[in-house]
Amino acid sequence: MNRIGFTTSIPVEIILAAGKIPVDLNNIFIEHPQAQQLITQAEEAGYPRNTCGWVKGLYAVAATHDFESLIAVMQGDCSNTQALMETLVLKGYKIMPFAYPFDRERKALEEQFNKLMAFFNVNQDELLAVWRNLKHVRQLCRELDLMTWRDNLISGWENHRCLVSSSDFNGDPAEYADKLETFLNEARTRKPFKDQVRLAYIGVPPIFTDFYEVVESMGARVVFNEIQRQFSMPYEAADPVEQYLLYTYPYGAFARLPDITHELALRDVDGVIHYTQTFCFRQIEDIIYRDKIKLPLLTLEGDKPGKLDSRSRMRLESFISMLKT
Ligand code: SF4
Repeated sequence: MNRIGFTTSIPVEIILAAGKIPVDLNNIFIEHPQAQQLITQAEEAGYPRNTCGWVKGLYAVAATHDFESLIAVMQGDCSNTQALMETLVLKGYKIMPFAYPFDRERKALEEQFNKLMAFFNVNQDELLAVWRNLKHVRQLCRELDLMTWRDNLISGWENHRCLVSSSDFNGDPAEYADKLETFLNEARTRKPFKDQVRLAYIGVPPIFTDFYEVVESMGARVVFNEIQRQFSMPYEAADPVEQYLLYTYPYGAFARLPDITHELALRDVDGVIHYTQTFCFRQIEDIIYRDKIKLPLLTLEGDKPGKLDSRSRMRLESFISMLKT
């Protein structure tokens, strides 16, 4: 009951400063051995078939696990979060809302920090102490990312796996840092990948379980996982509020684009995969990325957890073959 669930990245430092365990519900869902079963459970509870798989997964995770309370990001993440949380109130959950201001206004975000700190009874000094402590692990995440695109020592899957977990550090930042350090030391002894095709992955993390494996079997490697990298808070910031203002994901496509275009050039990327989730409002943003990104771009849609379907495999294969020529 010491565990605090949340629907997307929030200032995890506040939860840690309160002596609680942060748990990103998305990570529990996608790593669940019966993720598909969780979706069925949500549908049996009444979730419509045409609701995003992640939302159904999050509902089922929260409904079947014990959390002391849940933090719901009401602005800056998902248009379905309000209804998701309302159905969890029915289950007896205490919900703490959090909102990223769309205009990225510092004062408005500070107010959100203050509310969350008051809820968890955390003061400024306690927050700063944890924030400073996490600098080391965040630096390791940056190192992992550099070793992926610059040194070519780390696969797209390994990069994804580590960075996607940086939203909650698997509940224990010290253990996460130890494991990551060991992994990086091992990776330094590898021979570099010789990529035929270098890909960028933009969009929410894939619901497919074998996406990276399939891409690599086709002679390509993902050298940029956009949102997963954002979860690790990749920029140096002067204070915690600034860190979450620099974080691009909650502030829309036009806040994400400068980071995306900068990294595409830096990482010498050949092509971009824009992942979209079936029934997600973010599919509309594909129009913007197609217009603004001046590299070949494949839009890939996923629905339920599991392996890539044959149509998506074929589309990936054609895209990668085209980039090889
Ligand atoms: S994929 Fe889209 S609809 Fe689904 S949880 Fe994420 S933001 Fe919401």
